Amino acid sequence: MRTLFGAIADDFTGATDLAGLLARSGVRVSLRIGVPAEPPTDTAAFEVIALKSRTAPVADALQETRAALGWLQAAGAQRFFWKYCSTFDSTPEGNIGPVAEMLMDALGVDQTIYCPAFPENGRSIFMGNLFVGQQPLAESPMKDHPLTPMRDSNLMRLLEPQVTRPVGLADRLTVAKGAEALRARLGALKEQGVAHVVVDAVANNDLFEIADACRDMVLLTGGSAVAMPLPKAYLRDGTLEADAARFDVPALDSQAVVLSGSCSAMTNKQVAAYRLLGRPSYQLDPLALAQKGAGDALDWLAGQDLSKSPLIYATAKPDSVKAAQEMLGVAEAGKIIEQALADCAVAARDAGARRFVVAGGETSGAVTKALAADQLDVGPEIAPGVPWCFCQSAGQQIALTLKSGNFGDEMFFTEALDKL
Ligand code: ADP
Repeated sequence: MRTLFGAIADDFTGATDLAGLLARSGVRVSLRIGVPAEPPTDTAAFEVIALKSRTAPVADALQETRAALGWLQAAGAQRFFWKYCSTFDSTPEGNIGPVAEMLMDALGVDQTIYCPAFPENGRSIFMGNLFVGQQPLAESPMKDHPLTPMRDSNLMRLLEPQVTRPVGLADRLTVAKGAEALRARLGALKEQGVAHVVVDAVANNDLFEIADACRDMVLLTGGSAVAMPLPKAYLRDGTLEADAARFDVPALDSQAVVLSGSCSAMTNKQVAAYRLLGRPSYQLDPLALAQKGAGDALDWLAGQDLSKSPLIYATAKPDSVKAAQEMLGVAEAGKIIEQALADCAVAARDAGARRFVVAGGETSGAVTKALAADQLDVGPEIAPGVPWCFCQSAGQQIALTLKSGNFGDEMFFTEALDKL
């Protein structure tokens, strides 16, 4: 199948989120972890490449994105999407603006849009200002982010230092008038030489107007939600053939394992709720892992009945995470646990597990790497932005769901397992 739409995401769970929303339409969506080493064969109509470039040095982000673009072009893609975080995570250096400008140059386009809005998840843009729930971005917890503190809520002001060409706005009053008015506004801005257009969106319906107005633009940029209506828009206008290879969920053995390395507030609740159901569970102790390795956990796992979907978790409350980090160092503690969970994933697969519920962005990276899962077909969504994905691992068809910190509700683990 020839690829129509190629997306590049600046982080792993962001790519999963985008892939899940695109797959809501029923078209086949394929998610690649990193730029594939091999040239494209058997690609999906919608291809998403996950990079790890959000906080990389600008030059590295440009180089990686350029390689991803080349692969997507070789797959036949004609429409491109640059996906970043719905809180516009970036610094005055980048990487959102520089990457967008590089993509524009490479694709020969003189205008693109910026729309990180995701009304379903409380991200809205009004008069160019981004809100997180009811708070302006710069008053939200994002103001204290360790790597990309967001101290301004105005997207035009945030973007300007990151790009070389003029920045403008298509505001909500225009978007509310519909796709035609938005197209006219974009055209007028283009005549004035405005290359980078922030587009307001406060309600879900705005996203449909924006997708309708912008579906023929070669390059769009934004959060996952603005891309969500595109598959259906392409099916309606015939850009995508009606039979665009739907993905059929394969039948899989029900043996499962739940691996949790996220320590977010929501994951703590999810682990507690799962244990309350009386499911078998094993808690990893970072200090014991540092001293003795993952042997005890692997022995415990070897004795489990995988049809009961046992849970192995390092998930802990902030004070015990801090204690472990003080003893081992932040990076070392994280690495030891990620490695242990990755080893458990491989052991579980070799013991017959075919369904893997994984909590934590970094944890997901470690587990997919260990399972050599670098191409995933995206299936049904469990929670907004968290789909089941299917891939081959050591010659076996397996299913994985990769949940970043605060996604999903308290019963996510059982909801995920019940969904297949
Ligand atoms: P999230 O998506 O919630 O940010 P991640 O998996 O990306 O989750 O990050 C959590 C990090 O915390 C991982 O590196 C993980 O190994 C580490 N970690 C998990 N449990 C503990 C713990 N008990 N003590 C210290 N670090 C931990």
